[in-house]
Amino acid sequence: MTISCCIIPQSVDLLIIGAGIGGLTAAYEAQKKGIKFLLIEAENKVGGVINTITVDKALLETGPNSCLVKPGIMRLIAELGLEDQVIGASRLAKNRYFHRPDLGINLLAAPQDPLQFITSPFLGLKGKVRLLTEVFTRRSTANDESVHDFSCRHFGEEFTNNVLAAMLSGVWAANIKNLSVRSSLPVIWDWEQTCGSLLKGALTQRKKKISTPPAPDKPANLPTRGIFSFKNGMCTLPDIIMAKLDKNRLMTSGKVTRLTRTTSDDFRWKVEGIDQQSSNPQNFSLVCRQVIIATEASAASTLIREIDHTLSGEISKIPYAPLGVAHLLVNKKSSDYQLDGFGFLTPPHLSQGLLGAIFNSSLFPGRSGDEAWHLVTCFIGGGTFPEMADIREKDKLLSALSQIQTVLQLKEAPHVINTTFYPFAIPTYPLGHYSLQRKVDGHAPHLTFLGNWHRGVSVSDRIEEAVKAIEAIGLSRYTPTTDVRSL
Ligand SMILES: Cc1cc2nc3c(=O)[nH]c(=O)nc-3n(C[C@H](O)[C@H](O)[C@H](O)COP(=O)(O)OP(=O)(O)OC[C@H]3O[C@@H](n4cnc5c(N)ncnc54)[C@H](O)[C@@H]3O)c2cc1C
Repeated sequence: MTISCCIIPQSVDLLIIGAGIGGLTAAYEAQKKGIKFLLIEAENKVGGVINTITVDKALLETGPNSCLVKPGIMRLIAELGLEDQVIGASRLAKNRYFHRPDLGINLLAAPQDPLQFITSPFLGLKGKVRLLTEVFTRRSTANDESVHDFSCRHFGEEFTNNVLAAMLSGVWAANIKNLSVRSSLPVIWDWEQTCGSLLKGALTQRKKKISTPPAPDKPANLPTRGIFSFKNGMCTLPDIIMAKLDKNRLMTSGKVTRLTRTTSDDFRWKVEGIDQQSSNPQNFSLVCRQVIIATEASAASTLIREIDHTLSGEISKIPYAPLGVAHLLVNKKSSDYQLDGFGFLTPPHLSQGLLGAIFNSSLFPGRSGDEAWHLVTCFIGGGTFPEMADIREKDKLLSALSQIQTVLQLKEAPHVINTTFYPFAIPTYPLGHYSLQRKVDGHAPHLTFLGNWHRGVSVSDRIEEAVKAIEAIGLSRYTPTTDVRSL
């Protein structure tokens, strides 16, 4: 859904830059609290990377495919009255597969509980014994560690390379040798800090959960775990939030280009930008008390260059994994496999660039638009194969197609109905990212960073962080701190 302009006010209490799901949620929460805000988005649509399209009657997600059930997002959905739009993943979603050419198995069913790792052919004898010794792992004294090294210490190399590296490439599209465990898996990091062994940490957490009474405001009629989407796709969420916002407080096709402090005694920001709605772009400026930057790292870094040059430099260095996303229609008769599950992952050391695929029409039935076809989304490149991600190049797309044909044993070539290339798809939190997170937090609430490069990449995380940010801003309204004045 695209929108037209509001008249830009000369001043507001809160300016939110970027109308991805983070910025939109922040705007919605600010509106609820009666904060005088303005939301400015560079594109002529809201939702950021959330993008649902229809091609040949198939419903495609070029960005996120689903959301993880978490309290914040479920509360927001209930508040927006979207319960009847939510669709839980089909019961087949619990079937997940790994491509294991080393075992001569194209689609090996993943264990559905930790014990099955011991009984299934997933790991060799040595790998299984190593897994069982996890309980003796000692707490590390390091301040941070790569997910790869952390996992090798706990579970051994075989599990790390064949299971964890594949699983995390499905979420972060990252090379786990470059991904900080402390920042990307903070709960797991805490388990080690408190218990040493992750198994012990998980058991302690479970005990705590059982003894905690359920939240009284848990919305009814909504999935309580796992993943979900919406009948008309993920764009339902940004579209409905946008529809609830005061139209005078949302500007699309407006790019913020500069952020500085005003010279007045009263602490304020001066914001400058370009209004690109007409064929004749106009400059604009306004002042505000508080700013939320809900953009990707490169834009955030540019915007704060004049305010904090050092932090700007650090943010600009956050690496991103590039990703190719190809949507395919696969004739059901062309494969002996049922494609009855969430999808498959390929351990990176056994892949040639294809990270894995989601079986969309099995996950959310009806998505292919024709019962004779499966809809499959392939993910290519990521942090391990950055050179393979640009599937606008024919040889890279053909390589990915040949890999998927091998995995699914297709007798006829699939139809490619859409391709998307993200040069900067998902941030990879580097080692030591926690110290950047602290610095960034030190600027809040007058300057809050809400991009997914800061803390949490999932849609559900972005919503929880946005709610927290507005909570903090609401508490500190009109009381500038000495910290911020002396930035
Ligand atoms: C291919 C892909 C698949 C994914 N799959 C999943 C999934 O299945 N489940 C899941 O939970 N997460 C998934 N993610 C991650 C998740 O979608 C994102 O982390 C999240 O949507 C990011 O939201 P955001 O609001 O932080 O940023 P964005 O969506 O990136 O929005 C930032 C906005 O800021 C705007 N902007 C930038 N600069 C300026 C400026 N100067 N002035 C004004 N506006 C500006 C941009 O135009 C953009 O609209 C996926 C991501 C990708 C790329």
